[in-house]
Amino acid sequence: MTTRSALAAPNPSGSRALGLAPSAEGCAGAEGSAGSVVAQSYARLRAAQRASPHPDYAARRELLASLAAAVRRRASDLIQAASLDFGGRSANTTKIGDLATTLRELDYMQRHLRAWMAPEKRRLALHFRPARGRVEYQPLGVVGVISPWNYPIRLALGPLAAALAAGNRVLLKPSELAPHSAACLKELLAQALPASQVEVLLGAETVAQELCALPLDHLFFTGSTRVGKHVMRAAAQRLTPVTLELGGKCPVVIHPSASLESAARRIVAGKLFNAGQTCMAPDHVWVHSSQRDELLAALRGQIQAQYPTLVDNPDYTAIISSDHMRRLSALVDDARTRGARVELVTRAGEVWPAASRKVAPTLIADVSDDMKLAEEEIFGPLLPVRTFESLDEVFARLSQQPSPLAAYYFDSDASRCREWLRRTRSGGACINDVVVHGLQDDLPFGGVGASGMGRYHGREGFLTFSNQRGVLYQTRRNWTELLIPPYGALGRRVIDWLSR
Ligand code: NAD
Repeated sequence: MTTRSALAAPNPSGSRALGLAPSAEGCAGAEGSAGSVVAQSYARLRAAQRASPHPDYAARRELLASLAAAVRRRASDLIQAASLDFGGRSANTTKIGDLATTLRELDYMQRHLRAWMAPEKRRLALHFRPARGRVEYQPLGVVGVISPWNYPIRLALGPLAAALAAGNRVLLKPSELAPHSAACLKELLAQALPASQVEVLLGAETVAQELCALPLDHLFFTGSTRVGKHVMRAAAQRLTPVTLELGGKCPVVIHPSASLESAARRIVAGKLFNAGQTCMAPDHVWVHSSQRDELLAALRGQIQAQYPTLVDNPDYTAIISSDHMRRLSALVDDARTRGARVELVTRAGEVWPAASRKVAPTLIADVSDDMKLAEEEIFGPLLPVRTFESLDEVFARLSQQPSPLAAYYFDSDASRCREWLRRTRSGGACINDVVVHGLQDDLPFGGVGASGMGRYHGREGFLTFSNQRGVLYQTRRNWTELLIPPYGALGRRVIDWLSR
C-alpha cells in the first residue's frame, strides 16, 4: 500500500465506463413533448384524487405492501440499474443504502399506519367544554416528489411511500443522472401500483421545472441547495408548501479524549460508503493539532483495511459522472495550489483503466479557509483534516457556517457531548458515530437553515404529507354560549376572569 500524488483515476474526462447509459436528453425525448406529458399526468392524478379524496387504511396499507413486494421482486434489477448509472456501484451499497432502508421503512409504516391515521384527542380549555377537540389527518391531495441520483431508489421511494401512507397521489420525478434506476422505478411502479396513484416523469431539468410550476398540494425536493432555491421560488408562485432536503458540509469534531482508532474506523466507513456521495457523509474532520498526524495515520490505516484494493474492488463505488469527476479534481488542484498536503491512499501497483470513474480516497491536510473545498460541499471521497487549539475555536467557526444537514462529535464525556449539542446547530447529529442517525425509522430526518426545511422518515413523513386538521365537535349546551352578546352577569364575570 502506498500513497500517490495525483488523483488515482487517470481519466479526468471520465467518459462513461460502460457506454450504456441513455442521455438525459434521450430520456426527455422518449417522453415526447415534456410539457404535455407533465400536465396530462397531473390532470389524471387530480381527477383521481377528486373522485376519491380520502383513501382508507386498508387501501393505503395495500399500496405500501404492494410497493414492498415489487421492490423485493425487482431487487436484482434495481441493483444492476444503480450500478450502470454509477459506472460501477457496490451491490452491497445499493442493498444497504437503497433497498434495506426502503424495505425497512415500508414495513415500519405498515406496522404503524393505523395508529398514525387515528385522530388524536386534544384538551380544550375549560370554558369551551364539554365540546371535544381532536387532530384529524387528511391527505393533502396531489404532491410532487423530485429526487437526486446519489441513492436513486431510496430517495425516490422513501418520500413516495410517506406520501402514499398519508393518502396522496404522487408525481415522481427521479434524477436524470441516474437514468437506468429511473427507468426501472417507472416500470416497477407501473406494475406495483394503480396509475391513479403514482405517475413517474422521466427527463431532465425542464421536466422538473414544469412539475414545480403545477398547482400541487405539496412539493418534496431532495437535491442541492442551489436547485432548492429555484424550487422554492417556483413553488412560491402558487404558494405550494415545500419540503427541502438539501446538502451542506457535515463536520466531524473529535475531542482529544476520544479514541482516534474508533473514530477513524467510523469516519472512513461513513465517508467511503458510496464513495462519499452521501448527503450526510462527513465532509471534513476537526482534530486537536497535537493529534493530527496520529489521526491521519489512523484514517490511512482504516482506508487500507476497509478497502484493500480500489480499482477491482466491487465495494468501492465509482463517481456518478465525468462532470463530478472534474469537480472533485478541481477541488484537489485548488487545495494543492494553495498549499494543502494531498495524499491519495491507494494500493501500490494498481492499474486504473482509462474508463474508470473511481476516485481514490484522498486525505487532505494543511487546509485553509481560502480553499474551495473549505467552502463547497465535497460529495466525494476527499477528506480534509483540519486542526484546532481549543473547542471554543471550533464552536465559533461552526456557528459562522451555514447549518449543515448533520454534525458529528466524538467524545467520551457525556456532559461535554450535551454541551456540544447545545452549542451547535444541524438537521441531525450523531455522538460517537456518523451517518447512522439517518438510517432510523423513528428519528425525524431533514435539514435546518441552508440544509433544508421539513422532516420525514417514519411518522414525520406521514405528518409532512398530511393536513393536520384541528377539529372541534360542539355540543348542544356548552360554556361558549356565555361569550356571545348580550353578556349577562355570569358572562361578564367569566370574561373578566379569562382576561385577567
Ligand atoms: P440537484 O439539485 O442537481 O438535482 C436534484 C433533482 O432536481 C434532479 O431530479 C433534477 O432533475 C432536479 N432539478 C434540476 N434543476 C431543477 C430546477 N430548476 N427545478 C426543479 N428541479 C430541478 O442534486 P443532485 O446532484 O441530484 O444531488 C446531490 C445534492 O443533493 C447534494 O447537494 C446532496 O447533499 C443533496 N442531497 C440531499 C439529501 C437530503 O436528504 N438532504 C439527500 C441526497 C442528496
